[in-house]
Formats: sequence, structure tokens, C-alpha cells
Amino acid sequence: MPGGVSSPVRAFKSVGGQPIVFDRVKGSYAWDVDGNRFIDYVGSWGPAICGHSHPEVIAALQETLEKGTSFGAPCELENQLAEMVIDAVPSVEMVRFVNSGTEACMAVLRLMRAYTGRDKVIKFEGCYHGHADMFLVKAGSGVATLGLPDSPGVPRSTTANTLTAPYNDLEAVKELFAENPDAISGVILEPVVGNAGFITPEPGFLEGLRELTKENGALLVFDEVMTGFRISYGGAQSRFGVTPDLTTMGKVIGGGLPVGAYGGKAEIMSMVAPAGPMYQAGTLSGNPLAMTAGIKTLELLKQEGTYEKLESTTQKLISGIIQSAQEAGLNITGNSISAMFGFYLCEGPVRNFEDAKATDTDKFGKLHRAMLERGIYLAPSAFEAGFTSLAHSEDDIDATIKAFQESFALIA
Ligand SMILES: *Cc1c(COP(=O)(O)O)cnc(C)c1O
Repeated sequence: MPGGVSSPVRAFKSVGGQPIVFDRVKGSYAWDVDGNRFIDYVGSWGPAICGHSHPEVIAALQETLEKGTSFGAPCELENQLAEMVIDAVPSVEMVRFVNSGTEACMAVLRLMRAYTGRDKVIKFEGCYHGHADMFLVKAGSGVATLGLPDSPGVPRSTTANTLTAPYNDLEAVKELFAENPDAISGVILEPVVGNAGFITPEPGFLEGLRELTKENGALLVFDEVMTGFRISYGGAQSRFGVTPDLTTMGKVIGGGLPVGAYGGKAEIMSMVAPAGPMYQAGTLSGNPLAMTAGIKTLELLKQEGTYEKLESTTQKLISGIIQSAQEAGLNITGNSISAMFGFYLCEGPVRNFEDAKATDTDKFGKLHRAMLERGIYLAPSAFEAGFTSLAHSEDDIDATIKAFQESFALIA
């Protein structure tokens, strides 16, 4: 396997040292093949918001498993999950299930072009929308980590239609629209950025994009693969009260199995085959196991008090991290929303990817190793958000803050 992994960031290239090979996961914990236990803040990169291997999810999967793993035909479970997504996410009136976030973003881009008859798209520096050709321009963590501005093999003719702007910069977006009249199909972004560390939208940014796209006959697309059902049950769009035309989802929606989805206004989604002419298909899409994990996960999340608990757990953690760093005399800036958090080892503020690059990546690498030695598994990159789950207990958070105190003191 190239680099010994199935996805690049897992190789620990940017923090040094060797990757940890996992044997099993449960609740807030992961165990490696040597039997060491880690408190896990990666959560399979987002899906494990209820805690790893939640007993109810496992039980539901076992029941579904008895009926078979894939039908290649419609199943009732797809309708159930579709209904839950439509109920939860304000922009979604119609939804198509796929197998990954990458697939969802690829399809949504085709749909943006099909619907508007325009070829160009605006994305933001540091935002990741999967590994499809047209999105591999200033694409954040995985790519940034390896120091690849772009990837070889991506034709220039493809990315010529991808325009980029700094995050939180409405003026830059305005200029791009002015320079490319009637040519831009839409704007796609992470409404809260988790692939360049953790960057939040400034007041007015999302609202401004909503207005600019409308004025220019372009679509607004929120890539909520990471933020969907994490920033709130209805995603970032629900939390910030800005409704895009289209939304992509993944991670949490599959509850640990491979699921992605894209959805939006019925008028636009009706372009998708077989309702309309825009082709997109998938052999394993909507398969019963993946739908079951998604349904059960959303059911758990829908329960009273879930997001309040996630919010307070995460706030306690990030406050502890910031305080520990400051006590050690280190520069730090950090933040959390709901079950997502991040910090940079620099003075801040961090408004965009350019600012994020000021973080001390050498120090982060040392911190990462010191934390591993203390049984804490952080994302192996200075440019990835952290994730908490319902399974992270007060004791877990206290133990984590204590490990941060020791580790910060060590690297200061
Ligand atoms: C993870 C992620 C993707 C890609 O999803 P995969 O399932 O890894 O293909 C796309 N967009 C965002 C915002 C993501 O965080």
C-alpha cells in the first residue's frame, strides 16, 4: 500500500513518528494492536459522534446483516434515512445517497453545472471537498500536509474552471463574480472549516455569500460532509440560519459505514437521473447496512439534550487546552462549536488558511508525540479539526487536559 495506508493523513508524515495501528474501538477509546488504550479525538474523522461502536448501532447492524448486505434494488431503509435528512436539514427537499463525501461533492459539482449551464466554480483556500480533480486546488489538510499545492495528474484544463478565494473574504468573491460574468455556476464551501484546522465563519460571511450568489444567478452549496449533524442536528446551515441551494453530507450520516449524500431544492435535484438528465449512479449506494448505521446514529442524536452535552464537553476541553498552553508560555488561539474544536500554536486570530499557516507545525509534531505517549490520540496534523463524541466523559476530558498540561510544558 502506498505509504502503508489507505488514506494519506493516517501515515503521520506531518507529525513524524510511526502511525498507530488500531485493533478495536469502543466509546471514546481506541486500542492499538499492542493493547495500548487511547482517548480518541479523531472519531474515524467524524462519524463516531455517538461514540465508537455504539451498542444500539451494532445491534441494529446485526439485525440488518441477517437480511443481506446489499440489494442493488430499492430498500425501505433508504426512504427512512431520506425522510430523516429532509426533516433535519433546512435546504434539503430531495436527497441522493452515494458512498463517500468525495462522491457527493463530485456529483454536486456536476449538478451545479447542469442546472446553471455554467462551468466555473468558486471554492475557498483550505477547504477540502474530496479528491475529485476539479477540487484539488488549495485543498487544505491532506494536500497541505504533504506540501503539494496541487496533485500531478490533474489536468490544467480541469482546474482552469476552479476559482479560489480566501475564506471569510467577501470582497474577493465579489471580484471573481465581476471578472467572470454569467460564467460561475456557484460557490461551494465548508460553512465551518475543519480541513485547515478549525476556522469559523465571521458574522455576515455566510449571509453575504447567500446574497452574492443570488444576485449573480449562481448556486450556494454548503459542503456539510464534516459539519452535518455535528455543528447541530440540522448542520451548520441550521445553526447559522443561512440556507444554501444544495448540501453535501457524509461522515456522521453513515454512522461509521460508507455513506455520502447530496440534496437540496426539489427543483434542482429533479435534474438528477432518472428524474432528469444529469447522470450519477452507484452499485452499492443506499445499501441496507450503511442506511441502518445512519438511521440509528441520527436517532441517537435526535434525543433531548444531545447537542447541549456535546457543546459543554467540547467547550470544557478547548478552554482547558488554551489555559494549559498559556500557563506554559506558548502562543495559542483556539475555538469550538458543538462537537468540533481546533487550536493553532500561533498568536492568531486565524480567519483563513493563510493565517492558519502561522501555526508552529514543528511544535505541533512534538505535542502530538507527547500526547500519544500519554494515551491521547489527536489528529496527526496541525491542520485538522478535532472531534468529541457523546461517549467522552468528564474523566476523559480531565485526563486529556492533564496530558496537555504536561505536554505543553515539555515543548515550550
Ligand atoms: C471528509 C470530507 C470530504 C470527503 O469525504 P470522503 O468520505 O473522505 O470522501 C469532503 N468534504 C469535507 C468537508 C470533508 O470533511
